[in-house]
Amino acid sequence: MVVNAAEGEPASSKDRTLLQSLPHLVLDGAQLAAAAVGAHEILLGLCESAPGAHAGTARALAERGRPRRGEPSIELAAVPNRYVAGQESALVNHLGGGPALPTFTPPRPFERGVRGRPTLVCNVETLAHLALIARHGSAWFRELGTADQPGSALITLSGPVAYPGVYEIEHGSPLTALLDAAEGTTTPLRAVLLGGYAGTWIDAGMLRGVALSDAHLAPHGATLGAGVVVLLSNEACPIAELARITRWLAAQSARQCGPCVFGLDAIATTVEQLVLGGSQAHVQRRLASLAGLVNRRGACSHPDGAARLVASALDVFAEELADHARHGPCAACARPSELPRPRASAERSAPIG
Ligand code: SF4
Repeated sequence: MVVNAAEGEPASSKDRTLLQSLPHLVLDGAQLAAAAVGAHEILLGLCESAPGAHAGTARALAERGRPRRGEPSIELAAVPNRYVAGQESALVNHLGGGPALPTFTPPRPFERGVRGRPTLVCNVETLAHLALIARHGSAWFRELGTADQPGSALITLSGPVAYPGVYEIEHGSPLTALLDAAEGTTTPLRAVLLGGYAGTWIDAGMLRGVALSDAHLAPHGATLGAGVVVLLSNEACPIAELARITRWLAAQSARQCGPCVFGLDAIATTVEQLVLGGSQAHVQRRLASLAGLVNRRGACSHPDGAARLVASALDVFAEELADHARHGPCAACARPSELPRPRASAERSAPIG
């Protein structure tokens, strides 16, 4: 069995936070899941740039001591800090001794996984919930959330709020309640990015109607995804921010599938043309067409996420796109990025530069 703590999403910190602060909860859940499927071995794949989570998990493993007879062993493994390394098939490939790159499916890991054996892959947060449900019961878990999506979720909130960080919310909570928990915004907002870099933009004007559950977000074309809420202030240029993200997403392609390698690069180049301005109608048409062409064309869902992000940006930032078309780059284009960027060796995210 594999615990997926690769957390390659730059705007997410929930897995590393959970493993740093409550590692035994995750390990308890992993042992329960392993017992349920009869696994003899648990591999915990943790992002290499999460030293706090590594230390917390290693300490917890030492406290637990050697597994008792019949209990599965638990081994900690470092996963490269790469966006697609957290894709299920990439993680399984890496833990089996291969590169941390997605593989074509089928077979899915439960059919043929690490070292060719059937493998259950679970997320850190799911396992923490499992351990709590085992202790307190399913009725207790269902006291929170909605009928469709009971319980709570961990959300990494970043951007101009007084206290960015990881928050536990009840499924179905208003987005404004999350912002209140973070003691409010520090500057007026332009938009919210939901789900992460493979997520969906929502206009800040609609923020009051947004609730945090997949059913509530579906009409907006969004999901909670990696449990990420990124706020963008109205001082930023959303087109320049989009250009930085799409270029970064293109660089994260594992360069195995043509539509992903060439399509994401073409999308990034086209978004950069939008920043520069000039005649835009055909550029926007080309972008919409490219997004359609890469969607569902890779071995993994990386291109689909990039396509979703771009499609929602064209919709939400129509006004800024028109301004760029008429006047070219705006004054805000040169501002440093507000969005989180990938961690290198540091624990905390920093804006994309
Ligand atoms: S879709 Fe892109 S990221 Fe995914 S496996 Fe293919 S080349 Fe790699």
